[in-house]
Parts: sequence; C-alpha cells; structure tokens
Amino acid sequence: MGAEEKTIIEEEEDKEQNEDEEEEDEEEDNGSDGDEEMDVGDVSGDEPENDEDSAEAMAEFYADEDESKTATTQQHTTFQSLQLSRPVLKGLSQLGYTKPSPIQSASIPIALLGRDIVAGAVTGSGKTAAYMIPIIERLLYKPSKIASTRVVVLAPTRELAIQVGDVGKKIGQFVNNLNFGLAVGGLNLRQQEQQLKSRPDIVIATPGRLIDHIRNSPSFTIENLEVLVIDEADRMLDEGFQAELTEILSLIPKNKRQTLLFSATMNTKIQDLIQLSLQRPVRIMIDPPKTAATKLIQEFVRIRKREHLKPALLFQLLKKLDPVQQSRIVVFVSRKETAHKLRVVLGLLGMKVAELHGSLTQEQRLNNVNDFKKLVVPVLICTDLAARGLDIPKIEIVINYDMPKSYEIYLHRVGRTARAGRDGTSISFVGESTQDRSIVKEAIKSLESGESKGKAVSRNVDWVDVEKLNKIVESKEETIEEVLEEEKSAKEILQAEMQLNKANNLMKHEKEIKGRPKRTWFQTEEDKKKNQTEVMHQLTKHGKKVNSKKRKAIESKKEASGRSYKKTKEDRAADQRRNPKAKIGKGMSKGKGKPRRK
Ligand code: AMP
Repeated sequence: MGAEEKTIIEEEEDKEQNEDEEEEDEEEDNGSDGDEEMDVGDVSGDEPENDEDSAEAMAEFYADEDESKTATTQQHTTFQSLQLSRPVLKGLSQLGYTKPSPIQSASIPIALLGRDIVAGAVTGSGKTAAYMIPIIERLLYKPSKIASTRVVVLAPTRELAIQVGDVGKKIGQFVNNLNFGLAVGGLNLRQQEQQLKSRPDIVIATPGRLIDHIRNSPSFTIENLEVLVIDEADRMLDEGFQAELTEILSLIPKNKRQTLLFSATMNTKIQDLIQLSLQRPVRIMIDPPKTAATKLIQEFVRIRKREHLKPALLFQLLKKLDPVQQSRIVVFVSRKETAHKLRVVLGLLGMKVAELHGSLTQEQRLNNVNDFKKLVVPVLICTDLAARGLDIPKIEIVINYDMPKSYEIYLHRVGRTARAGRDGTSISFVGESTQDRSIVKEAIKSLESGESKGKAVSRNVDWVDVEKLNKIVESKEETIEEVLEEEKSAKEILQAEMQLNKANNLMKHEKEIKGRPKRTWFQTEEDKKKNQTEVMHQLTKHGKKVNSKKRKAIESKKEASGRSYKKTKEDRAADQRRNPKAKIGKGMSKGKGKPRRK
C-alpha cells in the first residue's frame, strides 16, 4: 500500500504539523487555557495543611518522619536481604521476581515489624506483593492452632480481588496449609459461603460482600483478624464504599489489628480514612511514574473534522498493525456504549475483539480478560474504569480511540505497554478540544525536557483508504442496529426468564426459603445517608478538617459504639426495631438498603 504503510514522520517534515504548531502558538497566546484545564493530579501531593490541623498534630498522628525516610531510602537489592522464609523465596523465584520493587523494598521490613503503613503506590509498582509477602511471612511465623480468618484484603472491584488472590496464591504456593478465600460481589454467594465456612487464612473481599458475609454467613467471622489491608483506598472511596469501610473498620478495633493502606492518591477523603483506620502509621510514598517509559513510541493522529471516520480508522490500524492478530492491543474509549458498538462493528468486519466495561456481567468481564491474556482475542476495547488496576502483561500497543481527561490518565494508559524494558507503541486519536491537545503538548514537553526518554511522532494516515473502509463500515450499519436491537430483546427475555425462574423457585421451595434467616444489612438507605454525613463528614467541618483532638473524640465515640458490635440475634432484632419499615431482608431484594453487589 505504499504511502499507506505505517509511516512515522518527524514533526518538522509534516506540513500538517507545521500548521498545528502555528495553531498551538495561537492558543498559547490566548492564555494558558489548556494548562488550566489539565488535571494532572499531583499523586503524592497532600492537600494543603489547614490551620486547625497543625503540622504538630499530624506529626503526632504519624510515626517519626525518620522511619519513613529510612524505609524509602534503604534499598534492598535482593529478596534474600529482606530475610524472607524459604517457601516464600521459592514462590517469588517461581514468579520470576528477582529484585524487590521500591515499594516492596520499603514496605516489607516495616510490615514485618507489625507496624501500620500508609503507602502511596500505583498499580504496576508491585504493591500487591508488597503486602502479600509480609502477610504470608506472618502467617508462617505465627501459625494458628485453629482455623481462622486472620487477614482480610479489601479491594474495590471483584476483578482486582481475583487478581490479588492469584498473586497471593502464587507467592504462597510452597507454604503448607495456606488457604485463600474470596468474598466478592457478583460471584455466587452460596458458593462463597461454603468456602468461607472453612475459615481461610486470607480472605480477599470487596467491602459490601464482606459485610454481607459477616452479618449473614453464620460460620464466617473476623473476630480473629490480625491484618487488614485496604488496597486502592482512593478508588474504594470513589466507588462509594465510604460507609462500608467505616462499618468494617468499626468491627475490628484498630489497636488489635495491623492495617496496611495503599492508595494512588492522597486527598482529604483519604486522609480522613487514614486517621480513622490506622495507628501511628509509617508513611511510604513512592513516586509514581511521571514520565513515559523509555522504549515507548507515542504516535498521534490528528482527527480534525473526521470524528465519523474513527471506527474505520481503528479498523484500518488494527488490520495493519497486527494482520495475523498475534499482538495484544488495548483500545481505550471514554464510553461503554462506544466499546460495545466498536466490538460489534469490528466483529462484523471479521476481527477478534473483546470488550471490557461496566455494563458486562461479572462472568463476561472475567472471560474477556482471560481470553485477552491468553491471546484468544488479541484486541481488548475498554473504558478506564473497567481497566483500572488490572494487571495485563505484555501489551504491545495501546490505542487511545478517545483521549483521556488528563495527562496523568494518559500516562497510566500508555504505561500499560513498553513495560520492563520492552518496546511498545501508543497511538492516540487527537481531537480538537483543548483537553486533547494539551495532553499532546504535555507529552512532547516531557520528551523535550528530557524527563521522558521515548519518542513522540505524528502518524501519517491514508485518509482516502479510511474513507473507503468507512463505506464498508457504513454498509454494516443496518446489521449493527439489528444486532444491538436483538441484544436488547435477548436481555429483556433473559430478565423475564430469571423472574419466572425465581417465582417458580419461590413456589417450589417456599418452605425452605421462608425458613432461612433473613439476610441483614448494616444500614438502610436512610441510615446510609445519615452515616455518610455523620461519620466521614463529621470529620470535616463545612468542608474544613476539624482539629485532631476533635477528630480523636469522634473516632473514639465511633469506635466505642462500633466495638460493641457482635453478630447476635439481639443485634438483628435491634436493627429491625430501629427500622421496622425497612424490613431489611426484603428491602435488599428490592434494592432498598441493598449492599453493593459488585
Ligand atoms: P502490582 O502493582 O501489584 O499490580 O504489580 C504489577 C506487576 O509487577 C505484576 O505483573 C507483578 O507480577 C509484577 N511484579 C511485582 N513485583 C515484582 C518484582 N519484584 N519483580 C518483577 N515483577 C514484579
């Protein structure tokens, strides 16, 4: 195809680019619009200290600065120097981990001492092993005589929980009698109940499902919990798990557990959660990558007024980049509808493509990720939210079909390729918005200043060919509509069938179902609102933090009431009395006071 072949041209040689530069200059002259709109959140940046929350009070709350400094500066170059046990070292070696990552080097020694930790670390930093290794060491070192759940790892989504469980099992594969359990939404509740009955040593859970099991699975208890890990704490709060977290924290006194909290960002909400959940924690802040990987080639395609050609452009790219479909390509889009429609279009055009977004069922999401990992399907179209935190190794190309909202998210996306010294390419479809263009500017600036090491180039596109392909895409439009319509009806039929089955089951097993104790939930919708304002917002005053003394008073009050919690009949009866209208069990099935089933 001659000129249509992948052509990477230098900016200076590109006529179009010259034009772009002029326009960019113009934009800059008009003020720093783009920069202002940029949301390059400072990952390590704490909120500005407020008057009442003095540095003194913060110093009192956290462990000595020196401890943090020692932890982060003392680099361990081998796992041996961390004095880990043989089975764990063997597990790590099987995984191919030869050297601790910075977050592992800093966290493991502190966690082994039994100290609480607040760690600022992003996915990709090796944070899972940073807490799994000391946890497994602890279980090994202090074996328990009776089976009990001693560790709970809280994760924001089921995919992450499953991923964490997999890493843990691999690290602990040579440790005798180490059991893992899952308590995550979206997967079979009864099966989980059965698994939890055996009281696995380590339970990986999403917050809502954990509470559900604590309250409703008779043989599951966290009374003997020794370690609580809060992974991706910021995301947990983003996903609305504030009240659930507070409830869980209130069930186990913080002076009786070791708490390890990991978060990519450290905003006010996280600070409040930290104050609520940890005791004299050691702060470990590992700088996230602020630059792109060394071997990454960042390509940009300026879309201009050709938005309608984007599906055809993607089709053209995928065909060229990977004609035999042997490389892993991730395509990021901003909306789940786009992800789905593109999957249908490309599927109709004969490509093996999978989708990953919030509208899929849990099973579909897991299957799609697995198919992609195994290269059964080489192209994965996903939204940021669905892909967040997922560790998918060996991605060759990242395509930004829609540009992200900020340079930080851009780095996160493109950082999924060119990992561990490998080559990688990102191709971004750049629109005309200030936001899109400021990301490109930021990427180029970072390379020019020498911060990033890779290469940024403008990608030449044969738009005539894309136009031709677009005709083919358009010819499928009717079929696409039909497919989408059919899917909609199939979904409705499925839902109706499920209702029917449920009704049949209810009739068939009425006696047994009625005989079961009603499932309870820790709060009604009303409680939920009240709790949110009372507990977490009590920690802030008109958006401002309250001082430490007051915070401590609120905390201890909350803990005092929380600590008295016991899963007793009386407790459930009291719940009912407090909220006779709520009929907690029934309400749940109608979505009232319903736990988040993730
Ligand atoms: P995480 O940040 O826990 O999601 O880990 C990101 C990726 O890094 C995963 O694929 C891990 O398997 C890998 N990883 C974690 N620790 C190490 C290590 N010490 N050496 C090599 N790879 C690692």
